[in-house]
Amino acid sequence: MTELDIKQQNAQALAAGYHKPFRTVEVVSIVSFWAIIVGVAVKASAFRHSHPAVLIAALVAGLFMADFVGGFVHWMGDTWGSTEMPILGKALIRPFREHHVDEQAMVRHDYIETNGANCMISVPVVGAALFIPLNIDGWIAPALFAMVSIGSMVLWVMMTNQIHKWSHLGEARTPGWLKLLQRMHLVLPPDHHQIHHTAPFDTYYCITTGWLNWPLAKIGFYRRMERLVSAVTGLIPRRDDIGLEAALKIAPGQPPQAAPSRGPQ
Ligand SMILES: [Zn+2]
Ligand SMILES: [Zn+2]
Repeated sequence: MTELDIKQQNAQALAAGYHKPFRTVEVVSIVSFWAIIVGVAVKASAFRHSHPAVLIAALVAGLFMADFVGGFVHWMGDTWGSTEMPILGKALIRPFREHHVDEQAMVRHDYIETNGANCMISVPVVGAALFIPLNIDGWIAPALFAMVSIGSMVLWVMMTNQIHKWSHLGEARTPGWLKLLQRMHLVLPPDHHQIHHTAPFDTYYCITTGWLNWPLAKIGFYRRMERLVSAVTGLIPRRDDIGLEAALKIAPGQPPQAAPSRGPQ
C-alpha cells in the first residue's frame, strides 16, 4: 500500500477563524431554535391521546433521519469547499477542518460554539414544520407525522455536536450515565467514532447514534456520491482537508494501488 502524504491545515490558524460577530448570530439561532421546538411540542401534544402511535413512530423516525442528515452534512463539510470561501468557509467549513487536525478542540468549546451552527441551519427547517396544517380532514396523521418527525430530526441534529463532543471527552471525564448510553449505542460510542478519525477521514460520518455508518459504508454510499459530484463539478473530494496529492490518490475511480494506508496519524 502507498503511504498517503496527508497535508492538513494549521490548528491555531483554524481555531483563530472563529469570529465574535458570528457568535451573536449563533446566540440568536439557539434562542430561536428552542422557541420554535417548544412550539412544535405544544402543537403535537394536543394529539397525544388521539394519535399516540403516530407520535412515537415520528419521534423514532426523526432519530434515524438525524443520523443520516448529520452524517450527510458532515460528509459535505469534510469533503467539499474550502476555509477560504467567503462566509461559508469561516462559519461552516472551518470547524470540520479543525476537528480533523485537533480532535480535542471541540471539547474546549462552550455550549454556544458547539451548538450554534447546527441551530442556524435547523431554524428554517423546524420553522417550516411548525406551519404544517394539522386540520385538513384525511391528512391529519401524515401531517402530524411530518411535523413531529421533522421536529424530532432537528432536535437530534441539534444534539449531534453535543453527542459528538461527548465521544471525545475521554474515559476519565465521561460520567457513568453517559458511558452506559454509549455502551448501549444509544449515542455515538467513542471507539466507533474513532474509525472516522483514522486518516484519510473518509468513512463513518454519522455522529448522532452512528447506527447508519455500517450500512452506508457497506453500500459505498459516499464514494458513489463523490463520483457523481466530481463528474458534475470537476471538484476533487477532500482536497482542502488532506491536501491535493493525498486527495487525488484516494479519489473514487483512481487505480487500486493508490489505496490509502490507514495507519494512525
Ligand atoms: Zn469529519
Ligand atoms: Zn470527532
